[in-house]
Amino acid sequence: MSIEEITPREALRRQRAGARLVDVREQHERDLGMAEGARGIALGELEGHIARTAQAGDEVVLICQSGARSLQGARQLQALGYRRLASVVGGTSRWQGEGLPMAAPAAHVDLDFHDRYARHLRLPEIGVEGQRRLERAHVMMVGAGGLGSPAAYYLVAAGLGRLRIVDDDVVDRSNLQRQILHTDARIGHAKVASAAVALSALNPRARIEPVAERVTSGNVEALLEGVDVVIDGADNFPVRYLVNDACVRLGKPLVYGAVHRFEGQTSVFDTGGRRGEAPCYRCLFPEPPPPEAAPNCSQAGVLGVLPGVIGLLQATETLKLLLGIGEPLRGRLLHFDALAMRFRETRLAPDPDCPLCAPGRDFPGYIDYAAFCAGVT
Ligand SMILES: [Zn+2]
Repeated sequence: MSIEEITPREALRRQRAGARLVDVREQHERDLGMAEGARGIALGELEGHIARTAQAGDEVVLICQSGARSLQGARQLQALGYRRLASVVGGTSRWQGEGLPMAAPAAHVDLDFHDRYARHLRLPEIGVEGQRRLERAHVMMVGAGGLGSPAAYYLVAAGLGRLRIVDDDVVDRSNLQRQILHTDARIGHAKVASAAVALSALNPRARIEPVAERVTSGNVEALLEGVDVVIDGADNFPVRYLVNDACVRLGKPLVYGAVHRFEGQTSVFDTGGRRGEAPCYRCLFPEPPPPEAAPNCSQAGVLGVLPGVIGLLQATETLKLLLGIGEPLRGRLLHFDALAMRFRETRLAPDPDCPLCAPGRDFPGYIDYAAFCAGVT
């Protein structure tokens, strides 16, 4: 038997005539306000809890956000023997839109949080719990350039609570072709200051910690203090090795990214907590290339969108690590070729003779390699 679907106005009329109005949305949705007089029972708990609110002979009108879950709930009740059932078309959205009486939001509710992250809260893999976890999380990102721009933008939009950005460079006109955190008006400003302006405007809830310093052997451990995940967005060799070595030593996951011309690559080096199981960057390249073999960075070009793609992959991996969901890009190197529009994956095994992370090896100390290449990101 099909379920009767009624307008919010008709639902209100029936409720006033004695029908039970049941809101089957989740608690965090109901906290933002319900149709006045509705009782809240989440869809997943409906079968177990309906008997407290209505008996099989009672008339029950179900409401949700838009009308889909309430219809599903009505079918469940039908299977339990309830006969006088209806579902509200358009749900609470339409009820509210038509100006029908609403119960006020719960006093404790952070409306900004619920509005801003509504699309995350609807994903069971994130939900309120995961979103709170993101707000408590602290990420350190080296580089406020091509990779850092999209990574920082999306992480802060997604609700990352604290982002420490380390970069000693200033905004140059030639950066703007890809470094979308910055603007023409901020040419000459410190990149970390420019980034803080852009990110705070996007999400004032986030705490941005700008650090206008170059990463060296002397400060790398202090910069990693207290952070959950490290993003390498600097794309230059001296910094990459320092950050890799510090992450292994301090047990922090490192989200790596690099770009050159039309190609890029990314991976997650999570060696610190998984010695001998997960590789580090030195397992792949034990030492930096000799300066003469490295691309001449002052002349190297990069397709503007390329760091956008790689930086977003880094942001994606960072979110997964913070939320503990999905399968991280651990032990896998992902290559991207923009011209062919192809992704290719290479397995990475830990090197049992790695100069840094081989099991039982003592920490060899930090090395400040000569900055022969400033990177192009
Ligand atoms: Zn290694």
